[in-house]
Amino acid sequence: MSVYTRPLARLIEHLQKLPGIGPKSAQRLALHLIQRPEKEIAAFAEALLAAKQQVGHCQRCFHLSSEDLCNICRDPKRDTQTICVVADPRDVIALEKTREYKGLYHVLGGLISPMDGIGPEQLTVQALVRRVAQEKTQEVIIAISPSVEGETTTLYVGQLIKPFTRVTRIAFGLPMGGDLEYADEVTLARALEGRRDLT
Ligand code: ZN
Repeated sequence: MSVYTRPLARLIEHLQKLPGIGPKSAQRLALHLIQRPEKEIAAFAEALLAAKQQVGHCQRCFHLSSEDLCNICRDPKRDTQTICVVADPRDVIALEKTREYKGLYHVLGGLISPMDGIGPEQLTVQALVRRVAQEKTQEVIIAISPSVEGETTTLYVGQLIKPFTRVTRIAFGLPMGGDLEYADEVTLARALEGRRDLT
């Protein structure tokens, strides 16, 4: 017998599936939520569903977007001759926070990881190669953290696009395997500034 009444237990179960939420936090959040006004909860539930239904990927760079092109790709002030390649939309957000980078992005959607059965064909690598060939890109900056999968991906992508453009990678004063999103803005801005040609 659960100490929670069934609807409450269900809510806790769902909350517990969220990243970083353990049983205690899930219980605290659930008890908090059921005390909020019904109108607020209805708006919350609606926002959750709308985000899921409406947020897809930018057709050009694969960043999160609810339109064909994301806000960054539609911004006429961006430098369209530079593309920064990242693994995940969270990396775009981290790099945008530095306010240093003015080019466009390309989100791979993960890293090459044979152990997990993820090959280049599961990622947006081919779309990147097409983009670089078509968009007359002057520089591709690879901003992928130097884990084993990150290195494999960086080298693979680098080899494919080198015939078309200059390829650099950001300097990692970041810890090995450290995620971009956990790096502070100054570190990340410096990493970008200190980028080197991929050899
Ligand atoms: Zn985009």
